[in-house]
Amino acid sequence: MSSSNRWRRFTEWEERPLGLDRFAVEDAENGFSVFKSPYDPEPAIEIEDGKLVSMDGRKLADFDIIDMFIARHHLDLDAAERAMGMESAAIARMLVDINVPRAELESLARGMTPAKLADVVSRLSALEIAFAYSKMRQRHAPGNQAHVTNAKDDPVQLAADAATAVALGFDEIETTMRVAGNAWSNALACTVGAAVGRGGVLFQCSIEEAEELQIGFAGFASYAETVSVYGTERAFIDGDDTPWSKAFLTAAYASRGIKARCTSGAAAELLMGFHEKRSLLYLEARCLCLQRAMGVQGTQNGGIDGAPLTASMAGGVRELMAENLLAVWLGLECASGNDTRISESEIRVGAKITPYLMAGSDLICSGFGSIKKYDNSFNASLFNGEEVEDYLALQRDFEVDGGLRPVSEDQILGLRVRATEALAAVLQELGLADVTQAMRSSVVFASGSDETASFSAGQASEISAKIKDHGLTALDVVKALAKQGFREEAENLIFMLRQRVSGDYLQTSAIIRDGRVMSAVNTPNDYQGPGTGYRMTPERWQQVRNIRGTLSRAAVLAAESTGRVDGHPPFRLQSTGPARQGNDPREVVIGVSPAFAERLHQTTAGHPLSDVIRTLTAGIEEGGGIARIVRILHTADTSFLGLTAAKLAGSGIGIGIQAKGTAVIHQADRLPHLNLELFSNAPLISLDHYRAFGRNAAGYARGERPEPVIVPVRGEALGARFHVRVALLYALETELVDPGAKPVDVVAEFGGASA
Ligand code: CA
Repeated sequence: MSSSNRWRRFTEWEERPLGLDRFAVEDAENGFSVFKSPYDPEPAIEIEDGKLVSMDGRKLADFDIIDMFIARHHLDLDAAERAMGMESAAIARMLVDINVPRAELESLARGMTPAKLADVVSRLSALEIAFAYSKMRQRHAPGNQAHVTNAKDDPVQLAADAATAVALGFDEIETTMRVAGNAWSNALACTVGAAVGRGGVLFQCSIEEAEELQIGFAGFASYAETVSVYGTERAFIDGDDTPWSKAFLTAAYASRGIKARCTSGAAAELLMGFHEKRSLLYLEARCLCLQRAMGVQGTQNGGIDGAPLTASMAGGVRELMAENLLAVWLGLECASGNDTRISESEIRVGAKITPYLMAGSDLICSGFGSIKKYDNSFNASLFNGEEVEDYLALQRDFEVDGGLRPVSEDQILGLRVRATEALAAVLQELGLADVTQAMRSSVVFASGSDETASFSAGQASEISAKIKDHGLTALDVVKALAKQGFREEAENLIFMLRQRVSGDYLQTSAIIRDGRVMSAVNTPNDYQGPGTGYRMTPERWQQVRNIRGTLSRAAVLAAESTGRVDGHPPFRLQSTGPARQGNDPREVVIGVSPAFAERLHQTTAGHPLSDVIRTLTAGIEEGGGIARIVRILHTADTSFLGLTAAKLAGSGIGIGIQAKGTAVIHQADRLPHLNLELFSNAPLISLDHYRAFGRNAAGYARGERPEPVIVPVRGEALGARFHVRVALLYALETELVDPGAKPVDVVAEFGGASA
């Protein structure tokens, strides 16, 4: 119930999507502090006789398991004295100084404690963090990672959606499942889909760590990033883990040629209840030092599951950026968060991604939902299938490479058909399931699982159990693909299996493009100011900017070339000679533009110009006037069209109208831009409005002051919708302008008959 004693705008604000977001107050006592808590230690280090005595205010004897691991495996004591002795502000300035190389800063970081690292980045503004990130991130070219899941764990849809994600340009795709038992089926389906159209896309199946490792051993995963680490000891122990067990696990992945990243992010400890009253940034600095200490090549960080909670705090989004900067400063590949949706507000979503698009990131999203929100089994991502084209438009707006590219309808349909056929062939060949034509068709055209008639989660479980029980591996899938005629897909998949043997993609920030590993080792980020670092090639920029909905002059001309509007009889304005000066006081002249019904045939609102002329004329007659039509050739400007018409009219009242539908009522003795009435928003003008316009013109002719016709505007972004078209249409008008030409009288011929 709304109270009347209230400014109603507040109610309206509450009804916006943002109204669903909730925000947290700063409260260090309860773990809600972002950059600095009173309980955070001051950065400090004590070294005696080459041995560490204390770190960040804690004596060696009091170290917890995280301190101990960091002290032993992260801290470079040779670098520590210099790095810890430097002013934090001075190091912060080095991060944004293009003259200080990345390598120099990385060696400094190896001598810094978690509290020191946090202290340095906390001194940077959001803009400075983004800038430092563009310099410190590891790989030359940015990339992106997709989620491919669905609400039914339907393998046919997974294959089609994986192929779709590959076509969109994702370098990595990852799946998870609604039912844990479906892991093997999901992994096999995505493995097949990811081999359609292009080879080299890395794939992972996110599940409980031991199962994930088994799936990896079987060749159904080429990377893993679910090894979670935490910034407090209690959070670790609660999950039956230690830094040593996590280090062992990541080494196990690497030993089988599986690229591995850890996962950590702000507010994880807070969500688990083990925050120790420390700030989010300090705890995350501990996590990241730990990861570098473990020798893992990368991290998925930037909130992750804790991102919505972090974003609820003041400065929270800046903190997420800061922790990503810490990751790359420590020399880790960064799959920068941007996965969990932090807000119901599309404005906050678009704003959050923008600094990453500008700075670039090894993987800009650590989980872009390439599928629809309701199919995203990780929960809704920051961006999802619904918003792919918004993301593509942002890339184009800022001329930045977000790792994705537009796709054509034909291309996608072909790939989805191919992926479902390949999966059906593999399932049949391996004796796992039969996929009917109807099941495949339902998936090919479906936007999401609500529309499919394929496998249910229960049926997927049967497939999954068989894969596991039969001990099938990716090699069996390769053989099945080859035998069933999917040679290209078989080759793409075996290419990935070969990569596991060479292990080149275990290098920091490795992705595979065009059959080649690109990592921080062979294609490092070399940004050092303008003219350096990654820039799109002309070919890549052409790809990125070629989104749907672009309008060219050729397209506008083609639409106007026939001179006919679909479903309407031919219409033209036939010249009868030089325009005469009228003398009937009832006469209102309609002055049309040079291209009106000549090269252009409908208004931007879609009205055929024949209808516009008919209703204007009818309106003038209803108002007791007499209409005469004149084509004006020396101008296409609405005001001058109107004024010229008015001067020719017996009444001194004229209507000027352009082909796109913009119209004015003018009077002979007025200044050009002081018209009587103006219809400026042509796309919103109805035929009834034109009729009323005509009536009013006749009213002015009789010396009345009629109520002006108002075309209601509801805040539509008319410029965004129409200005490309308007600019192209107006150019066609002005091309026909002849400054020396006199107006001519014309008669309207409707479907061959004059009126
Ligand atoms: Ca991820």
